[in-house]
Amino acid sequence: MDYTFKIQGSADEPYTVRLTNTSGDFKAICDCPAGNRLVMCKHVLPFFENKLPKDIIKGDVNALEEIHVAFQQSEGAPVLQGMQDIEQQMAALKKELADRKKQLARVTLG
Ligand SMILES: [Zn+2]
Repeated sequence: MDYTFKIQGSADEPYTVRLTNTSGDFKAICDCPAGNRLVMCKHVLPFFENKLPKDIIKGDVNALEEIHVAFQQSEGAPVLQGMQDIEQQMAALKKELADRKKQLARVTLG
């Protein structure tokens, strides 16, 4: 598997995202400033989440399913799952914090 996408970012020139899977070794590279520093960027992460990044101007968007299946079999999949678990816990904690603030207001204000 080898797919290349052009994605219009903030720079004049579109960024290039390349996703490859060779014998189960799944790799992604993006030439945006974050990608050049090997930081996970918004041009790559959506593919892992089975979504297309915004502003794709070139590339086979029908390949999303194949890309996602390959990612799911990679060593990145459990790491992403862990990130998503943390996001869920954070959402639950935010709600709990908001509820506690309301409770504090009820028992102390007025
Ligand atoms: Zn990028």
